[in-house]
Amino acid sequence: MAEMRTACEEARDAGRTVGLVPTMGFFHAGHRSLMRAAREASDFVVVTVFVNPTQFGPTEDLGAYPRDPDGDAAVARAEGVDVLFAPPVEEMYPEPGHTTVHVDGLTARLCGASRPSHFDGVATVVAKLFSIAGPCRAYFGRKDAQQLAVVTRMAVDLNLPVTVIGCPLVREADGLAMSSRNAYLEPDEREAATALSRALRQIAAEIVVGERDAAVVRKVALDTIASERLLTLDYAEVVDATSLEPLARLAGTVLVALAATVGRTRLIDNATFLFEGGADVIADLGVTASGPGSSRPESSGADACSGDS
Ligand code: AMP
Repeated sequence: MAEMRTACEEARDAGRTVGLVPTMGFFHAGHRSLMRAAREASDFVVVTVFVNPTQFGPTEDLGAYPRDPDGDAAVARAEGVDVLFAPPVEEMYPEPGHTTVHVDGLTARLCGASRPSHFDGVATVVAKLFSIAGPCRAYFGRKDAQQLAVVTRMAVDLNLPVTVIGCPLVREADGLAMSSRNAYLEPDEREAATALSRALRQIAAEIVVGERDAAVVRKVALDTIASERLLTLDYAEVVDATSLEPLARLAGTVLVALAATVGRTRLIDNATFLFEGGADVIADLGVTASGPGSSRPESSGADACSGDS
């Protein structure tokens, strides 16, 4: 940990900018896209791999979470990462902490409703990583849209010297949102899992022809997920992308967020729709990885990484 802090300080002392990519490892093209975004915009890229115990509930998959330290190191090398920081649990938590970062409001709904302590674990470990890295740009995927909103708000509220950058969600060719947890899926579950992205594409099609009623949009998602017998719905919500408050009508920046379980695997997916000037719609359904480790933007604009700088 001291070495990582020193490496970041030395980079800044030499006039270099630092890009930070926090992850839980088992890299796929989604992680690689963040490393590339960091590499493009920063002089010194730090990727962290830490399966953070405090963000897993007592009945969740902490023990089973997929890990591949050697594979991750090879990916990081291939992506030109300067430092791969993969601390053991004892280094991050030498003793039980007395301090928890809780981002109020944003964490109560969506995934927070079924994972009540999850975002406290996330916010606390990300605050620790930001503290160790120091002033930097930190890259997060829009795959975890609620996490991105929570971390962004935390950095602002606590005046942390970190610019949080949100980057496009990367999908498999058939639309499934990439996730380390997809490794758990049996073939029939993998097939059923595509219902989430299918629902988002149907919603996009409805919106493009003028649908603005959040209840109608929600029903498209509910019906599509219900039609897959292997899927059990957790939530389908239409919310403001920043406040995560539910919307009745679609306006501004709208997040359609879905969560369901298939077998023992929890899946999340989402799309962002921008309504500009009342008429325009820009759908951010993510980008599709076109080969091992590469990603191809489907469109410009909403697909780009966006931060507050
Ligand atoms: P994880 O290792 O799953 O905790 O994810 C680490 C970072 O990668 C987070 O910022 C995630 O949002 C991001 N990420 C995970 N999956 C994807 C994906 N399919 N597309 C884009 N970013 C992703």
